[in-house]
Amino acid sequence: MISYKSKREIELLKQAGHIVYLTHQFLAPYIKPGIKTMELEVKAEKFIRDHGATPSFKGYDGFPYTLCISVNDEIVHGFPSDRILEEGDIISIDIGACYKGYHGDSAWTYPVGKISKENEYLLEHTKKALYEGIKKAKVGARIGDISYAIEQYATKYNLGVVKELVGHGVGTSVHEDPNVPNYGKKGTGPKIKDGMVIAIEPMLTLGSPEIYILDNDWTVVTEDGSNSAHFEHTIAITNEGVEILTGE
Ligand code: MG
Ligand code: MG
Repeated sequence: MISYKSKREIELLKQAGHIVYLTHQFLAPYIKPGIKTMELEVKAEKFIRDHGATPSFKGYDGFPYTLCISVNDEIVHGFPSDRILEEGDIISIDIGACYKGYHGDSAWTYPVGKISKENEYLLEHTKKALYEGIKKAKVGARIGDISYAIEQYATKYNLGVVKELVGHGVGTSVHEDPNVPNYGKKGTGPKIKDGMVIAIEPMLTLGSPEIYILDNDWTVVTEDGSNSAHFEHTIAITNEGVEILTGE
């Protein structure tokens, strides 16, 4: 069931989203060759709690950490660990924070030092695919319009679209209806109405979009070992327009 949010609820979602945004800003300068991904985890959890919020993912369905940290061929749900980031890696950091009962959810893929042209291409166009999707979010449109725009853009740039994982509604749960796939047909799916809050999150790959799940039962990687990027914003759609809740 899709829940449509009141102005008061959107204000709270905005506060949660802002904490997620600030956490990304706080972590970004630490993303350098030589840092352990677990160090980012520890810093992020403290930062979120110091802002009066709680990590949305820690304990969600048993997920053990504050951050999902997915490096190179890892698509999503990577575990922070003793892995040391190296020059040329790409690292996707997915952050969720809950403030006064409302969530924000945003993922970003960062370069570690200098990265290859291919990886630059992947990051640039996955980010642009997210904004292509956001452009289609308006009252009266359908979720399929967003999905179609992302898929069209990704296909144009010859990137693989991961189909098993999708965007979602955001509210008092971090994952709510409706599903927001990164592929689909225009004019299909739920109608977008005033007060809908969703996370749009393309996950694109340089090679095949086929996935494989590691033995920890969480981490999703590309089957062919190609790199993957992930960009996500939580947005509110109202009669006044669209607001990115996890942006500046
Ligand atoms: Mg996320
Ligand atoms: Mg999400």
